[in-house]
Amino acid sequence: MAIGITHLGSGSRGNATVVSSGDCNVLVDCGFSLKQTEKRLGIAGINPSSIDSIVVTHHHKDHSGSALRASKKWGSELHCNLGTASKMEWDLMEECVTFGNLERVEFSSDLSMLAIPVPHDDADNVALIASDGNGDRAAIVTDLGEAPQDLIKHLTGCNHISIEANYDHHRLVSGPYPESLKRRISGRGGHLSNRQAGDILLEVMHDDLESIVLCHLSERNNAPHLAESEVLMAIGDEFTGNISISRQLGPEFSFLTGQSNPNSIVAV
Ligand SMILES: [Zn+2]
Ligand SMILES: [Zn+2]
Repeated sequence: MAIGITHLGSGSRGNATVVSSGDCNVLVDCGFSLKQTEKRLGIAGINPSSIDSIVVTHHHKDHSGSALRASKKWGSELHCNLGTASKMEWDLMEECVTFGNLERVEFSSDLSMLAIPVPHDDADNVALIASDGNGDRAAIVTDLGEAPQDLIKHLTGCNHISIEANYDHHRLVSGPYPESLKRRISGRGGHLSNRQAGDILLEVMHDDLESIVLCHLSERNNAPHLAESEVLMAIGDEFTGNISISRQLGPEFSFLTGQSNPNSIVAV
């Protein structure tokens, strides 16, 4: 078995990623409108009714947007932790299933995810490590100011890592945002810079890391070429796999663990 990872799009205006193994499809975050999400799933060739579960990492709108509506319409089970459920005011009996920090959620015999708490604003955010139960692992890591040791430990065994590279430090510092917002973004509870993403990747690098996707790039404080060059500079020759960028518009490609190169998705 292998794990498929398809980013439907990523950034401050919405995030959604399909993680698949065997016959099981899990949507990690559902931050676009329902119409946009269905359109993007269609482009990727995925029928919305085949989404078995939706996992919401935290309550911010760019991750939670249409999750409840989508789960009701598609008949998908909605999963999140207690903090997110309470912020979203989702009914624990009727509307969602909660998981605990560092708990492994089993979606099928071929797909489970471990939820690792990460520091981010006033959110109870989690990074997710998907496993196919057969040795393949893929990580989805966004919206965090720094990487806790638990996360570093679990990233070290992943074949695929999707990680945010939110801002270029120089662009943020010299840009138009008020000082308080600059401090919030670059603080412990904010987002990862390109440099931080590179340093984390270098720390967890191993021979079986096949593919990296940089995501959640700020449209104002970053640019794809800056993110890619800074991360490549940090990880250098250590990494021989594929590095790609998921932008706000998508989906553009799909990864499968066991392959270093992505399959292109072309809208027809
Ligand atoms: Zn976000
Ligand atoms: Zn957030």
